[in-house]
Amino acid sequence: MLGGIEAGGTKCVVAVADDDLSISAQATIPTTEPDETFASIINFFERAQSEHASDLTAIGVASFGPVGVDPAASNYGEIFETPKLAWRGVSYQDRLSQVGVPVIIDTDVNGAALAEQIYGAGKSAETLAYVTVGTGIGVGLVKAGKPLSGFSHYEMGHILPRRAESDTFEGLCPSHGDCLEGLAAGPAIEARWGQPLSDLNSDHPAHDIEADYLGQLVHSITLTHAPHSIVLGGGVMKTEGLIERIRAKAERHLGGYMKHAALDAGLQNYVTKPKLGDKSGIIGALALARACNADE
Ligand code: ZN
Repeated sequence: MLGGIEAGGTKCVVAVADDDLSISAQATIPTTEPDETFASIINFFERAQSEHASDLTAIGVASFGPVGVDPAASNYGEIFETPKLAWRGVSYQDRLSQVGVPVIIDTDVNGAALAEQIYGAGKSAETLAYVTVGTGIGVGLVKAGKPLSGFSHYEMGHILPRRAESDTFEGLCPSHGDCLEGLAAGPAIEARWGQPLSDLNSDHPAHDIEADYLGQLVHSITLTHAPHSIVLGGGVMKTEGLIERIRAKAERHLGGYMKHAALDAGLQNYVTKPKLGDKSGIIGALALARACNADE
């Protein structure tokens, strides 16, 4: 039996599943203090094991970041400079050690990318990028079932975009000011326009500005990683008409420079919404656990 944890800033989704990733029990646990949250998580896994008369073989964690994702490093599974102060320095490996199974950790977006590659939008995509646009902007990348990273997981949400015409907003990122996340994540939209994007009329300039920035992200991801598919998820992407505008902007930014069958005219097949909806995260966590078993 596989265990999965999708760890977010406000809640953790926990689940157990068979090797085919079909979920047999799932729960949502509020992300409060680490002691309390991990006690509830461990309790869930202990109950699931006795109720299903089956032992866990591995736990996959798809976590908010920044988090250590290099299994060879001493800080593997440790949460770094999060604004959630009580969680700084918390280690999934330590906290889950009493369960007694291997724990594999990656980012929430790498988990979602993995799930979408297995089941969703990118079924036939050997390399896939998953972008979340919500309270932050994050990008996960998988190639043939493996999340990609360097000395750290990627932080493409913080690239420096070219300013959209008429946009003078100073940006909200505490580290970079007007990086992409500082200009285009949900809190930046609300600080600039006073409302979420989905509440603004379709002729409001915010839609074009947002689409321009996210179109630049699609452009950068395409040029740096050449994925076969780009999936755009997260709360802001639920705005009606946004994905169509992003496709149009991205196609213009790309300017026909990259040529491949994956880059269809209009980018309808290249840039898509998540097929698994909000389930990409937890299914990704379970897929990380399954991949860990396969490696042994
Ligand atoms: Zn930034």
